[in-house]
Amino acid sequence: MLAIVALALGAAAWLRLGPVPAIDATTSLTITDRNGEPLYEPLAASGSRTQWLRAETIPPRVADATIAAEDRRFDKHIGVDPIAVARATLHNIRARRVVEGGSTITQQVAKLVLQSRDRSLRTKWRETVLALRLEHRYTKREILALYLNLAPYGNRINGIARASRAYFGCAPEQLTPAQTAFLASLPQRPSAFNPLRDPGSARARQRMILAKMNLTPQEREHARAERLQFAKTAQPAVAMHFIERVLGTQQPSNPATQIRTTLDANLQRTVSGIIQAHKTDLIKHGAHSVAVAVLDNATGEWLAWEGSGNYFDDAFGGAIDGVTTPRQPGSTLKPFTYALAFEDGASPATIVADIPANFPTAEHGIVYTPRNYDGRYRGPLRIRAALAGSQNIPAVATLAKLGPESLLRMLRNAGFTGLQRTADYYGLGLTLGDAEVTLEQLVTAYAAFARNGKQVQTTMVLTAQPRNRATAQLFSPRTAFFITDILSDPDARAYAFGTGGSLDFPFPVAVKTGTSQSYRDNWTVGYTKDVTVGVWVGNFDRRELRGSSGLTGAAPIFHGVMLAAMQRARGRLPIGDSTPIVDPPPDAESLEICSLSGRRPSTYCQSVRREWLPTEAAPQFCSWHHADTIDWPVEYRAWARQTQPRATLASSTVHHRALEIANPADGATYLIDPTLRLEFQTLRLRAISATRVTWQIDGRPVAPEWPLARGTHTVTATDAAGRTESVRIFVK
Ligand SMILES: [Zn+2]
Repeated sequence: MLAIVALALGAAAWLRLGPVPAIDATTSLTITDRNGEPLYEPLAASGSRTQWLRAETIPPRVADATIAAEDRRFDKHIGVDPIAVARATLHNIRARRVVEGGSTITQQVAKLVLQSRDRSLRTKWRETVLALRLEHRYTKREILALYLNLAPYGNRINGIARASRAYFGCAPEQLTPAQTAFLASLPQRPSAFNPLRDPGSARARQRMILAKMNLTPQEREHARAERLQFAKTAQPAVAMHFIERVLGTQQPSNPATQIRTTLDANLQRTVSGIIQAHKTDLIKHGAHSVAVAVLDNATGEWLAWEGSGNYFDDAFGGAIDGVTTPRQPGSTLKPFTYALAFEDGASPATIVADIPANFPTAEHGIVYTPRNYDGRYRGPLRIRAALAGSQNIPAVATLAKLGPESLLRMLRNAGFTGLQRTADYYGLGLTLGDAEVTLEQLVTAYAAFARNGKQVQTTMVLTAQPRNRATAQLFSPRTAFFITDILSDPDARAYAFGTGGSLDFPFPVAVKTGTSQSYRDNWTVGYTKDVTVGVWVGNFDRRELRGSSGLTGAAPIFHGVMLAAMQRARGRLPIGDSTPIVDPPPDAESLEICSLSGRRPSTYCQSVRREWLPTEAAPQFCSWHHADTIDWPVEYRAWARQTQPRATLASSTVHHRALEIANPADGATYLIDPTLRLEFQTLRLRAISATRVTWQIDGRPVAPEWPLARGTHTVTATDAAGRTESVRIFVK
């Protein structure tokens, strides 16, 4: 009997008197840029590092609110509260899920001290033992002080004193009852919501806590009516999205008190300034958000990272990080389609067809009819012109040959991890950017072009030891060279984009623009040897932009950021330095070609230029040009007949019928193209006739550029002699 009593006493003594881990009161996390400049320091506002709240200095209201929120029987229990546990169990059973924990404040202190991460029984037992010991070692006030100093208040802010400064810009004793109740509501679910971003979600709990606090009816009413104003100046203003991302990727148990990031605060401020300078212009175009990312190609370090243009702009989702938000990339994915073609043996001289064309889709009987930005057809185009001028039809035609599944594979390898659907789902529209990607992924993938095809491993944190993670070769150095040579060729894009605009630089810059369907997103991505820069302009609520194109939204910002990033990389702008971004590889040679056929020139070729060709390819000579005619390959004949002067046509064309509808074909099915503006969703009505032809659709006269409308339609052509021809088409 005595032994049992002794054992029980011993057990109780061990439970209550056993060791308690040291509680560190002084650590706080500082995040700096690459040069050690603080970007984020929770204590910066007060200028003091000792914010440890002492038991005797706990403001009564803070104590009241915290006890009301967490543990109403705090003053009565011995560290654990069986009544609270029973009540919580009952509530949880009733709600059929865990709605209440039943942990006392002391148990929560134990949990915070032990930094337990799992909720196993063993962990709970350890926490319970420590709670009992804490109750023995400390007074109730001291335990409450421990809780208030250790509890997480969201945004990686621990402790009520820091939280009070960060959210409301004042010391805890200056908080109003409404603010106190709001803060007391945060430790419950500190990571579930960001009070700066979404104060609404904490409001319900705040009201509940206010109801339980010891307030006079007048104080309570006043507190309920108070509109919380968050202290914006107390938050760091530089690179908030980047800091959140860095914090989000750190291990919660990381003992580091300082994280040195890769960001360059000076460049980041310049980027913010450039965005500010374009703000009026952007708003004129209906764009409220801008994301910019700058990557160091050699090291994979992020040098600048702006998520929205203004983190605190609540009206337009300023706290959302546009660098990591998936959006439709428009034409910015086209280089990957041509990279695939280059891997397959094509060269910048390879001819692709820019002619009216229908492509089969995964859906039986449905064809895909892509259109170019301006609705025109340019016949045979060299890949250089097709990519630089960003024509849609050649990109789709190229992908149709290679297959969407091979592009999908390449894009996934390049880091577009969000592309989780099947190739059939995306279809050929994949090359026109109808799947969603992030700016972070785009910039990372483009950097591989600047690195001779080698993938880059990006990082946000500087590490002392060199990072020697193996990186994959995404495509050959020759493919990287071809793509880079085309994207940095201002002459090649001039026919579509003009010259002297935001895409032109006094040194080589490879650049690509993109615009998503209905003008919701506007992109410019580009690189030099040193850096890759990406810019997105749009609205987080997907509101459409107005009158914005590749050259009026993102491109001017891209221009400014690229200049700043190069100034930083080289110490001065490399004006006039024409060193290529990617060196020509030994397996490519510059040779003369026929501008039209892309093949080695014959004596009849009218226009000859130099182009890069694979060294291993057997020379093919132009067979299109003859003494006074062009012998068009069969696929270009219909196009040539309509666009080329008669003299250049092969004489073999004979018309058997007086009137023939050349376009559309009888029975053709058209899909309304989601990547283009509605005004470009037109069907070109073309007839072969010696006289003027007028057009009717479903009996109503129409112009030869008919805007596609869903349904089944009868297209009728009437010539001057009154002859008619009809075809039926389907538009889905
Ligand atoms: Zn020729």
